[in-house]
Amino acid sequence: MTFLVQTEPLATIERLAVAASRWATVDVLARPAGLPIHALTFGVADKAAPALFISGGVHGLERIGTDVAIAYLQSLVARLAWDEALHDLLTRMRIVIVPLVNPVGMARGTRANGSGVDLMRNAPDAGLGGTPLVGGQRISAKLPWFMGNGAAMEEEAAALVQIVERELFTAPFAIALDLHSGFGVIDRLWYPYARTREPIPDHDRIVAFSQLLDGALPNHVYRLEQTARVYTIRGDLWDYLYDRRRSLGDGMLLSLTLEMGSWSWVRKNPLQGLSTFGRFNPIKPHRHRRTLRRHLPLLDVLLHAVVSYRRWLP
Ligand SMILES: [Zn+2]
Repeated sequence: MTFLVQTEPLATIERLAVAASRWATVDVLARPAGLPIHALTFGVADKAAPALFISGGVHGLERIGTDVAIAYLQSLVARLAWDEALHDLLTRMRIVIVPLVNPVGMARGTRANGSGVDLMRNAPDAGLGGTPLVGGQRISAKLPWFMGNGAAMEEEAAALVQIVERELFTAPFAIALDLHSGFGVIDRLWYPYARTREPIPDHDRIVAFSQLLDGALPNHVYRLEQTARVYTIRGDLWDYLYDRRRSLGDGMLLSLTLEMGSWSWVRKNPLQGLSTFGRFNPIKPHRHRRTLRRHLPLLDVLLHAVVSYRRWLP
């Protein structure tokens, strides 16, 4: 397999994993085509503690998601060197970061993994349905949004499911934030379900989270909405994980997808719309830096919302 795009994010992640090793457990979850999928776990060992999970790069083309996860990781590692309040938080909770779920897709500059599968649509037992094509298709790996052939899950998707089950399913409350880019001009925070416009059973908790977000980050940039409001997806990994966690009883996984609106970057710099990479990522350095710092306040609020869940969750 030849890699068309440099794998510089992987080098950064490996460097940060070394720097973080004083405070974090570093796992390699899988090695598709020899490229590692890292997971860094910070905080208390007790699996009954609440947890925050951050992932990026499920779609290899959406490099900015991995860059935001890396920026958060950098900030975390730097702050652990001096921040007493952060250390206190981490005695009561855990943070798990998987900055690059699809290293082969990122190295090749493709949305899908090395087998042409859209990992976000690769959950087990996924029937067909949803919005035609974009909602997942089983016609061909040569077309986008290919869900896989319905047999075993792809190793990247299986690795993600496995670590979420291992690290979040025993927590009384967990938030997962999966970082994506591409759709629309605004930044959206999507919650389940993706497969149907029916509200999730925990809808009252979404309402409480929405109020928490509006109060803690006045004038924030996010539109909080159900994924299926835009289009319906079958085989959505986060629908699958949300339901599985729910089926275990007591406790909740609030799974969110941050869909960074890339059309505004294209609108301000139309030439970048001519490249596939440019349609999903900020190209100008000042816009890239702005995107990296734009979401740090959200991540901070999520951290506090997780550790304080008893105070606001209905
Ligand atoms: Zn995506």
